[in-house]
Amino acid sequence: MKITVYNEFNIHHKSGKILEAYPNGIHGSLKKLFEKNGHEIRTYTLETINDITLDVLKDTDVLVWWGHMNHNDVKDEVVDMIVNQVNLGMGFIALHSSHLSKPLKRLLGTPCTLQWREMDENERLWVVNPTHPIAKGLPSYIDIPHDEMYGEPFAIPTPDELVFIGWFKGGNVFRSGCCYNRGYGKVFYFQPGHETNPVYEIPEIKKILLNAIEWAKPTTRLEYLDCPNATNPLEKI
Ligand code: ZN
Repeated sequence: MKITVYNEFNIHHKSGKILEAYPNGIHGSLKKLFEKNGHEIRTYTLETINDITLDVLKDTDVLVWWGHMNHNDVKDEVVDMIVNQVNLGMGFIALHSSHLSKPLKRLLGTPCTLQWREMDENERLWVVNPTHPIAKGLPSYIDIPHDEMYGEPFAIPTPDELVFIGWFKGGNVFRSGCCYNRGYGKVFYFQPGHETNPVYEIPEIKKILLNAIEWAKPTTRLEYLDCPNATNPLEKI
């Protein structure tokens, strides 16, 4: 499978905190995970994302997105191409603070706002749909020792399928794993993954990411949506 990973990798890595958790960046950790499992990976950061081409997106089965502070620096032309490709069948996975990314907000059509608290609380991630492909091989819950709290209300459309609910020590709960069909493509939002803690190195979380790309990959990829030469089936009656 061909995976393209975007990691903003801008302000926070300069603070040093993110480098402690992810010495090669979140994109470096994800690249290693996906490559180890036989996938072809391209990576982009804030410095390069606006140079991504339509050819690269057409050649991408699943686009994995991690953005935080610089959502608005991603050009609308890039977002247009991404949304079009999802409608044609490309998978799109938005991680953690990408709930406010331009592509996800465009695909879901709502503000995607939430409550948050950065206190390094532990999170218990409950599998609420054990028969879903993204939950395959997982225990009934996963304990994440440190993560940022994201809480309800989460301003999203009701998910087509809900796979995970997060519970935080402070008492909040959150729809942490949400699936959507958009056009002919599949979209998955996954909440865990604050940049100062190496959440994406936890074995069960790696399993979720691998399951998610398998679930989101296109079965058929369309070239275009309109059919100018379609014949009218009533013509011959
Ligand atoms: Zn965060």
